[in-house]
Amino acid sequence: MTDAILALNAGSSSIKFALFKMGPGKTLEPAVRGEMEGIGTEPHFAAHDAAGTEIGQKSWAGNASTDHDALLGWLMDWVRHHLGCDVLAAVGHRVVHGGRDFIAPVRLTPEIIAALDGLTPLAPLHQPHSLAPVRAIMGRQPDLPQVACFDTAFHHTLPAVASRYALPREYEDEGVRRYGFHGLSYEFIAGRLRETAPHLAAGRVVVAHLGNGASLCAMRDGRSLDTTMGFTALDGLVMGTRCGTLDAGVVLYMLQQKGLSAPDVEQVLYKKSGLLGVSGISSDMRTLTASADPHAREAVELFVFRVARQTAALANSLGGLDGFVFTAGIGEHSPAIREAVCERLGWLGVRIDRAANANHADRIATSESRVDVRVIPTDEEAMIARHTRDVLSDAGETGGA
Ligand code: ADP
Repeated sequence: MTDAILALNAGSSSIKFALFKMGPGKTLEPAVRGEMEGIGTEPHFAAHDAAGTEIGQKSWAGNASTDHDALLGWLMDWVRHHLGCDVLAAVGHRVVHGGRDFIAPVRLTPEIIAALDGLTPLAPLHQPHSLAPVRAIMGRQPDLPQVACFDTAFHHTLPAVASRYALPREYEDEGVRRYGFHGLSYEFIAGRLRETAPHLAAGRVVVAHLGNGASLCAMRDGRSLDTTMGFTALDGLVMGTRCGTLDAGVVLYMLQQKGLSAPDVEQVLYKKSGLLGVSGISSDMRTLTASADPHAREAVELFVFRVARQTAALANSLGGLDGFVFTAGIGEHSPAIREAVCERLGWLGVRIDRAANANHADRIATSESRVDVRVIPTDEEAMIARHTRDVLSDAGETGGA
């Protein structure tokens, strides 16, 4: 009988999950990964084992019985069935916002859930989706330990000059500051760098998490010193459907001149902008890089321009640049975007090896490059599982195998 940890990463229309079994010395062995997609429309579940073999899949036609809670209940039953005699020791969750106070993973209690709920105004589109599975599991299995791992926590080391907005002080006092997100991904990458390139890990590194959501993190010695997302996950780079950095005057223009309501503005900024807004075609980088449409080309060009521009700003925050890391869907899989970004960073001494880049090598810089450039797959679920194990171990709650 082995203990297992379930890592959940819940979004608005999907739940990514991974199941890890605890080995000797509380090592975590990945056993199953999967995703429930299309929640709210046509849900689809797929899971595969550590070797990549499909071990489960199911589709639902959209109907009333397939809301978030019902699908999560189905997923928990599937996990329990899959575990057989093994014991689910805990569930770890990615929680988008930890605010000022939650700077480390925490065991969830009704009081802490209420406190995290209180942070919903800071992430109105994301926080409720983070907390919904926590509540659903607590309702079904109140004794099952659950741990929250925060996307903001890794950035608690931001110096005040990087986290402060130039607004009247009272805003900062009530929590209006730059928090930064994608922290679990950056923490994972910082750990991988320490394992695979300790010298570089100790240096000045910009990590580019380029997925549907996209951001950069400036790290020195594995600590976050600057990042492109701010008070919300709307700031910084061009994303799938989010606008990234925007003159706040544009929001005033939408409200005052165009007469848009606040929810309409929210829709435009979060759901209708970014790659989708500029291309008018798709939020998916694969579709855009394959398209001959000039608007698709312009969207890709803007994406690359902003990554390079913000990298230069972050290199300045670090006082130089020793390494650059690509990660997440676009960063891990698109040689064309990597090449275009690196070309714009040529003035910083970035040189990439085209063949290595095309082959998705771990290290894609040439030997002459002044900046080491790497491609490192991220694993937010592994980070969630590690934190969950550690919180439980600290509380003396995991037996291990
Ligand atoms: P999420 O933020 O939802 O976790 P991912 O990290 O999975 O997103 O990244 C999704 C993005 O990665 C999409 O824009 C997708 O088109 C892009 N992507 C995945 N594979 C490729 C590829 N081979 N070439 C270009 N873009 C890719």
